[in-house]
Amino acid sequence: MSAAEPKSEQSPDAALKQLQQGNARFAASFKSDPKPTRARRLETAQKQHPIAIIVGCADSRTGPEIIFDQNIGDLFVVRTAGNVVDDHALGSIEYAVEHLGTRLVIVLGHARCGAVSAALDNGSAPGHIGSIVRDIRPSVEAVRGQAGELLVNAIKENVRRVAETVRQKAELGDLASAVKVAEAYYDLDTGKVAWLGPH
Ligand SMILES: [Zn+2]
Repeated sequence: MSAAEPKSEQSPDAALKQLQQGNARFAASFKSDPKPTRARRLETAQKQHPIAIIVGCADSRTGPEIIFDQNIGDLFVVRTAGNVVDDHALGSIEYAVEHLGTRLVIVLGHARCGAVSAALDNGSAPGHIGSIVRDIRPSVEAVRGQAGELLVNAIKENVRRVAETVRQKAELGDLASAVKVAEAYYDLDTGKVAWLGPH
């Protein structure tokens, strides 16, 4: 096995380190073990203890198991376009914390996010895309006029705001203080995940 064996209620810092090492392997194109392995599949068939909850974008280029070089059973993944969270997403996060022992949440935005890009437009998006765009738009307005590229700034602001929503709205009871919510930005060109917070 290339990665440390995930344990129930692994500390958020240990989980974060495992994912940072996995992303470094991926970005450097080191050859990793083929995944999923049969052994890991059998080991996790009856139980799961994912080391992290990833709140990521549905974008086809940002698959968390791939970019963090993790195996089946390692990550509990909630994906929507623009990595926004609604009640279903918050419920999924609460489930993983309370029932699977996961203590690390990573909100993962990425370069050239189409959902955030759509929110830069002032027009109304069709159908249910409108609901996503409405959730992202306050992040765009918050960074408008700031130095740097508007899209990149808005993507990062959206990550920060979604992370804050998770911290404030996920109902974790006594477990809340044990859970870390980290903010990350994935670069499609380099394959590297940059860590935006918490600082
Ligand atoms: Zn996206």
